[in-house]
Amino acid sequence: MSGFIGTKLTMNLGERSYDIIVKSGSLENLYQFARLDRRVAVVTDSGVPAQYAQMVADQCKDAHIITVPQGEASKSFKILESVLRQMLEFGMGRGDLVIAVGGGVVGDLAGFAAATYLRGIAYVQVPTTLLAAVDSSVGGKTAVNLPTGKNQLGCFYQPSLVLCDTDALSTLPEAEYKNGCGEIIKYAVLAGGELFSMIENADTRTQYADVIARCVTIKRDIVGEDEFDTGRRRLLNLGHTFGHAIEKCSGYSIPHGAAVGIGLAMMCRAAHKRGYCASDVPEKVEKLLAKYGMSAAADFTAQELYDAALSDKKIAGGSVSLVIPEKIGCCHALTVSCGDMLGWLKDGGAR
Ligand code: MG
Repeated sequence: MSGFIGTKLTMNLGERSYDIIVKSGSLENLYQFARLDRRVAVVTDSGVPAQYAQMVADQCKDAHIITVPQGEASKSFKILESVLRQMLEFGMGRGDLVIAVGGGVVGDLAGFAAATYLRGIAYVQVPTTLLAAVDSSVGGKTAVNLPTGKNQLGCFYQPSLVLCDTDALSTLPEAEYKNGCGEIIKYAVLAGGELFSMIENADTRTQYADVIARCVTIKRDIVGEDEFDTGRRRLLNLGHTFGHAIEKCSGYSIPHGAAVGIGLAMMCRAAHKRGYCASDVPEKVEKLLAKYGMSAAADFTAQELYDAALSDKKIAGGSVSLVIPEKIGCCHALTVSCGDMLGWLKDGGAR
């Protein structure tokens, strides 16, 4: 397109390839990137400024806005059913479209609704939180939670477009900003190099477009190689095995990105203690977390975290896949037995 100033990436997945647009002011020009001359269900939540969903709806020929309550509890069977019922009542057919306007909860829920409605219709991700922009909107993981755990009902179902308007991030509350920074720091440890020094030397907030484009490029490259998470995509789980346990132990009062930050710091300390990396790795990561006002430790015992981690979906057949940092910019997956997890958690600094 002429006059395009922003980043346009392509997720290369054969017939399921799609574009990822990161561009200031792009929300009001969504129509240039997606076909909106059909029935469109715009799914959003009560915490997202209503003008974003409205701006999307105004560009559609025939739109119905579905607003779910804000928060993780909306990733449920009950809310999923209500979204699907509203789509049916709106008369949506197989050629129609779902657009998710919001953060990770809305993206996962709307994506799963699109994946299952009439055996699958197209959907577009419009992330309005930093965490969704850098991570959850890209890669096609859709899900709702079951009472027994997060994301236990879901599928891989790629969007047909991801459009991130960086202007929508300018009004993010501080907690949401930090939530996104947890995942950004994870990407910086995975990739090292320029991304790490960029967020070390300047605030992420002053360089949203560049930081998001870099994180999404890393994710795009990894997902392009391993869409179904059987190999290399596991690297994106850096900080998450301990992070999920921390989230769960806190009763989800510690948000995902904050828990990933703590999980990452713990993993770096444990990896150093076990001789996988030099002391500069935990030092650099702790310093970076502190710069963003984020914690590097949580007040749970190793046993509490171990019990929580054992029920995590990533644990299969008595072993756990941990992502180990060797240095900033070089990580690898390591399979350890469930029994060893307790020791790893203690080495990471848990009581
Ligand atoms: Mg995550």
